[in-house]
Amino acid sequence: MEALLEQIESYRQEMSSYQVANAENLEAFRIKFLGTKGIVKNVMAEMKNVPSERKKEFGQILNAFKIFAEERFETLKESLTSTSQQTYPDIDWSLPGDPIPVGTRHPLSIVRNQMASIFKRLGFAIAEGPEMEDDWHNFTALNLPENHPARDMQDTFYLNQNPDYLLRTHTSSVQARIMEKQKPPIRIICPGRVYRNETISARAHCFFHQLEGLYVDEHVSFADLKQTLYFFVQEMFGKDVKLRFRPSYFPFTEPSAEMDISCTVCGGHGCSLCKYTGWVEILGCGMVHPKMLDNFNIDSNKFTGFAFGMGVERICQLKFRVNDLRLYSQNDVRFLRQFTGAV
Ligand SMILES: [Zn+2]
Repeated sequence: MEALLEQIESYRQEMSSYQVANAENLEAFRIKFLGTKGIVKNVMAEMKNVPSERKKEFGQILNAFKIFAEERFETLKESLTSTSQQTYPDIDWSLPGDPIPVGTRHPLSIVRNQMASIFKRLGFAIAEGPEMEDDWHNFTALNLPENHPARDMQDTFYLNQNPDYLLRTHTSSVQARIMEKQKPPIRIICPGRVYRNETISARAHCFFHQLEGLYVDEHVSFADLKQTLYFFVQEMFGKDVKLRFRPSYFPFTEPSAEMDISCTVCGGHGCSLCKYTGWVEILGCGMVHPKMLDNFNIDSNKFTGFAFGMGVERICQLKFRVNDLRLYSQNDVRFLRQFTGAV
């Protein structure tokens, strides 16, 4: 009888160390241990040889052995199922994956970010303000006279009258808000959307984007303004681009100038973009009008400053040769997709 006990123990060990890698292994286990001619059946058959005084004891041992074999079979079966979930035999891992479609930045965002990063390198901080403005910040504080055409109801989107609220016509209102609460040195750029009541065409739109700059400190000169813009133009359009200043008039600067760059399309030889002059206008600029500084309690005898402003669409047109302003807001993916990969 002791030999039978040893035999049972050795079968137990064999079953414990039995591993299955596939369904065939599992079936082999079943046939060997649980089959009609299997080990469990044979061991159970030994019961008839057990002396009657030990039958009760062996009955329990053999039953436990049978249950052990059945449970081991279930455990191996489960391990096989969970293993087969972890392997994906039907997938060819060498095939290319489905691309995840990512959108593109809007061309205006691309250009605005590029412009901002150039000025940031010169120490300009980005300032933002509300698109819904009051009369003071949009006009009066900026020295815009009562009869200025931008104040005309037909030219500007007024939201309310007395008190006057309107959609800002330029980002200069942000400059006004900064000068109101910050004392020099001030060195900011204000990128943002502005509104004018224009008939929509290829060359005009009811909203567009500006980027204005303001630098107020002691001893700020026109030379500083020129050098700042010269750096910007070279970084934006390349080292070969030339620039020139033409005297102009703006209510908030004195002296004022408009700045042209040599045409980026024809290199100055003349084409339809530059109207065969070789030059394209890109911005207005000038020294901040002393009266404007006084409006914000900044001592105009001590401080001077320069300001400039340009249209992001204009820079974008020169950069990407987009000749119709309407394309920017039509959300046509055939247009937008062309800027895939641009930073
Ligand atoms: Zn040209």
